[in-house]
Amino acid sequence: MFFADDNSSFKDAEFVIVGVPFDATASFRKGARFAPEEIRKESYNFESYLFEHDIALSDITIHDFGNIKRCKEPDEMMMEVKKVIKRIVNEEKFPILIGGEHSITFPAVTCFKDIGVVYLDAHLDFRDEYLGEKNSHACSARRISEVVGIENIVLLGTRSFSMEEKKAAESLGLRYIDAFKVKKDGIDKSIRTALSKIKRKAIYLTLDMDVIDPAYAPGVANPEPFGLSPEEVKRCINLLSKRLVGFDVVEVSPPYDNGNTSSLAARLIGEVIAVVGKNVE
Ligand code: MN
Ligand code: MN
Repeated sequence: MFFADDNSSFKDAEFVIVGVPFDATASFRKGARFAPEEIRKESYNFESYLFEHDIALSDITIHDFGNIKRCKEPDEMMMEVKKVIKRIVNEEKFPILIGGEHSITFPAVTCFKDIGVVYLDAHLDFRDEYLGEKNSHACSARRISEVVGIENIVLLGTRSFSMEEKKAAESLGLRYIDAFKVKKDGIDKSIRTALSKIKRKAIYLTLDMDVIDPAYAPGVANPEPFGLSPEEVKRCINLLSKRLVGFDVVEVSPPYDNGNTSSLAARLIGEVIAVVGKNVE
């Protein structure tokens, strides 16, 4: 099955969707490997026309590349992701990855030059290694910060980390705006603060669905209370739109979902395509 708005060849597409059915390092609720298919299925629920923007996705060229092959090891998955995403980036198209777990983001980010990263997540993902694995989903922000530079990544919506991660974040200078501060300051101010911290113009947005409250997004690998609302994440996409060059949505775990998490993920993919494709907020 392809994403509902798949309407173009690879060659002619501005946006290319790639599924990465990988969950080998998942530490709690496995099942993210089923997410690309579930999210595609849910995409058929939505109108192509997004009335609040007066934009139809059918007016934007979108190609669904399908999934990369199933991989058992992070190293193999990272090679496969890089192969596909490099090609997409080299041809100046906009990649949208559907995970899979959060370890798929690091290889994607390495395909860009001079990139800043906005990282929406309940977790800090800043362990140096987890269960002996350096490319675990629990280490994703750490690996990315080593490649883009610690000053070019900001996390938003954080509300769970170990004391070791906190110490490492402090000593290395990782910036994050926690979920409680986002609620207090509002999403607009929080995003502006995050963006003012990143010196690079082009932004890659990674959306770990567990940043959203489990009331709205129950089907995730590691649910965490006190999360952002779907509207706040939508607003975040809108405020970033003019600087976005790549996007992924990760950590949906369909075996633990009632359908709503996959559905919301599909809708947020449509949101990114609409506002980036038509260059509006
Ligand atoms: Mn994560
Ligand atoms: Mn997370």
